[in-house]
Amino acid sequence: MSNSSTMGKIHNFSAGPSILAPETIDNCVKGLQNFANTGLSVLEVSHRSKEFVAVVDETRGLIKDLLNIPDNYDIIFLGGGASMQFCMVAYNLLKEKAAYINTGTWSKKAIKEAKLFGQVDVIASSEEDNFNNIPKSYTIPGDADYFHITSNNTIFGTQFQEFPNSPVPMICDMSSDILSRPIEVSNFDMIYAGAQKNMGPAGVTVVIIKKSLLENPKNGIPTMLNYQTHIDKESMFNTPPVFPIYAMYQNLKWVKASGGVAEMERRAQNKAALLYNEIDSNPKFEGTAKKEDRSHMNACFKLVDETKNEAFMEAATQAGCSGIKGHRSVGGFRASMYNALPLESVQVLVDVMKKF
Ligand SMILES: *Cc1c(COP(=O)(O)O)cnc(C)c1O
Repeated sequence: MSNSSTMGKIHNFSAGPSILAPETIDNCVKGLQNFANTGLSVLEVSHRSKEFVAVVDETRGLIKDLLNIPDNYDIIFLGGGASMQFCMVAYNLLKEKAAYINTGTWSKKAIKEAKLFGQVDVIASSEEDNFNNIPKSYTIPGDADYFHITSNNTIFGTQFQEFPNSPVPMICDMSSDILSRPIEVSNFDMIYAGAQKNMGPAGVTVVIIKKSLLENPKNGIPTMLNYQTHIDKESMFNTPPVFPIYAMYQNLKWVKASGGVAEMERRAQNKAALLYNEIDSNPKFEGTAKKEDRSHMNACFKLVDETKNEAFMEAATQAGCSGIKGHRSVGGFRASMYNALPLESVQVLVDVMKKF
């Protein structure tokens, strides 16, 4: 059997889909072979079987527990990726006007979809600075149906260190930093996250939604795109992404057993400090994001002498580092340090940087 624990030496800095703990992968393999002692694979049982319904219930419970989600929120599992939420949010909630902050590629895509449904006020943007910072001065209009932000900008390596206080319902795309730090869920009316960065594998999106947000629904929303459908049917209106949910369940158990979100934050801070310290102290490298807004999940950096890019890539690859090529819109390198990445992997990358 081959898995990330027996392969050993690969240090997986992939931006997403991203590294999962060896225990998570091992438990997925077990479920593929014999799910919950049914003698069947998790791939070949009914999503309505009592064994699988138990998985969905426990997964929901783990998310509620890990993020300390109050009772007046629903948690649903959807297909279509976080990208589907860009249109679903607006389809369900944009009646007249919504406010967005543009902090990168994902925010821009969310804004583009929202414009199909009503007026969109982009109240702040860091686009002129190639998204190297999080805007701090703006006013959220009190008459907006909602206000949307992206908590962590996976591509540009910036992150909200503090969340704004919003006079209108606040909605957050947390795809790339959910479960990496404790959050006060009651400050948000909706949080969504594609699972493939910090929650599990690709194929399932978690939506956490305050019940009161859907009290005055819009008419004419297609059944599958209507949040209420999935809330009412407890994510079983149609066949949910069975295996991604199962794998996410395994990962959430791992997060919990490892000490929960507070421990994930402690680890993330240590990993980020180790890498940023090297970026700042090594004259051959420079960070691309403004220091105060740096992401603890995705660190973007460049070589001062970019003619050496290939040589550095080669050295990092030799040391077993995988997935550090920067996104084409930023260039340079990006090391993603999601929950399951060990500190030791960051140390390996830092050692390559020191020797280079
Ligand atoms: C990866 C990512 C997305 C897109 O997720 P998909 O599941 O591929 O649609 C959206 N937002 C953020 C912040 C991301 O990091």
